[in-house]
Amino acid sequence: MLYTPDIIAAIATAPGRGGVGVIRISGRQLGEIVAKLIGKPLTPRYAHFARFKAADGSVLDEGIALYFPAPNSFTGEEVLELQGHGGPVVMQMLLSRCLELGARFAEAGEFSKRAFFNGKMDLAQAEAVADLIDAQSAAAAKSALKSLDGAFSREIHVLVDELITLRMLVEATLDFPEEDIDFLEAANAHGKLLELQNQLQRVLGTATQGKLLREGMHVVLIGQPNVGKSSLMNALAGEEIAIVTDIAGTTRDTVRELIQLDGVPAHIIDTAGLRDTTDAVEKIGIERTWAAIAKAELALLLIDSRIGISSNDQAILDKLPPGLPVLRVFNKIDLTGDVPGIVADNEIHVSAKAGIGLNELRNKLLTLVGWHGHDDSVFIARERHLNAIRRAQSHLITAENAYLQIEIFAEELRLAQNALSEITGQFTSDDLLGVIFSRFCIGK
Ligand code: GDP
Ligand code: ZN
Repeated sequence: MLYTPDIIAAIATAPGRGGVGVIRISGRQLGEIVAKLIGKPLTPRYAHFARFKAADGSVLDEGIALYFPAPNSFTGEEVLELQGHGGPVVMQMLLSRCLELGARFAEAGEFSKRAFFNGKMDLAQAEAVADLIDAQSAAAAKSALKSLDGAFSREIHVLVDELITLRMLVEATLDFPEEDIDFLEAANAHGKLLELQNQLQRVLGTATQGKLLREGMHVVLIGQPNVGKSSLMNALAGEEIAIVTDIAGTTRDTVRELIQLDGVPAHIIDTAGLRDTTDAVEKIGIERTWAAIAKAELALLLIDSRIGISSNDQAILDKLPPGLPVLRVFNKIDLTGDVPGIVADNEIHVSAKAGIGLNELRNKLLTLVGWHGHDDSVFIARERHLNAIRRAQSHLITAENAYLQIEIFAEELRLAQNALSEITGQFTSDDLLGVIFSRFCIGK
């Protein structure tokens, strides 16, 4: 087990005021801190009422102290948790006292990083901790918990184990080149490779769903003023609305809402300000809108059914990034009597105001981003994971093509295994680990 020598401390609860605030301390030999701060030894895993003391013996706060001896703690080191009153000043005083007693301020994600290095959890699980905290919907939180519990890691372990079995077969033939092909055939190496490819494809499918739950979909609403963009945004939010954020509500800036479609977070961006202008402030707003469009996976062009696609709409359409899928949404059909629902692959009829055609629209959005509907087995995943799976896939394809060139076959299998092992962190560079953990919050 790898022990990092220094003691780290951080406020683990969110900034601001709360009934209780928690300071977390991790390291080795916390006895001295306990003695000076609390004045009595702590029974492991036992909630002690304690007075937290300053250097001069005066009481800084009183609350609960919990001590976890190594290795049975979150980080695998000794961990001390102080539950005090959750005010920013009290918390800061307690933290300063810990620093005075030899702890240092923890970096972002450092507790999780130590948990990873001490074998308490693998990398996918450590990431799931962050994803659970950042979850934007109940479904996302549930699937983060699945990953935290090891559901994703287990899938990867099974695949890696099967790859290792296949590699052993192949490596064995390298030692007996004269009978290599027959040997591989007899062991059904090719069949095993195909089976691995199927499994990888299945895991990629689940991970893609998990990534959608984590990151959500980014949809831009475009269209002329008064076609019903805001009405549609509100109507889509409907009963599923859980978190609604209005950022910068001026017409000159982008307006974003976070709604949920079947538990998938959907970032909807209203682009009301897209027009030619000489106004400097408005120009900034328009630049932001284009930046939002560049990040979107999908655009909805709203059209007044009574008017149809105007030249202004066409001008916007022409400027959209070439690969961006655009769904044409003909709104206000309550005024025209058009039939609601999908009318062509990229066209739908709705009325935001009358609430017609909206379920079809929701389903269409989910289909367009590749959501397969709820499934309890979905674990949370990140682009990093998808990327690793795709690289493993491409190595297996190269391996398959090189089936008769045993050395290339063996090497590609090895590379596929390394790619998969990056997910759980068994084969991950220090640089990448640094990047991953630095994106966590302090105290995590
Ligand atoms: P935006 O400027 O594109 O955001 O459009 P709004 O959502 O503010 O809507 C402009 C006007 O159109 C409002 O008076 C809405 O009530 C009306 N409106 C929006 N959707 C519909 C619809 O489906 N049918 C009818 N009849 N009116 C609508
Ligand atoms: Zn609007």
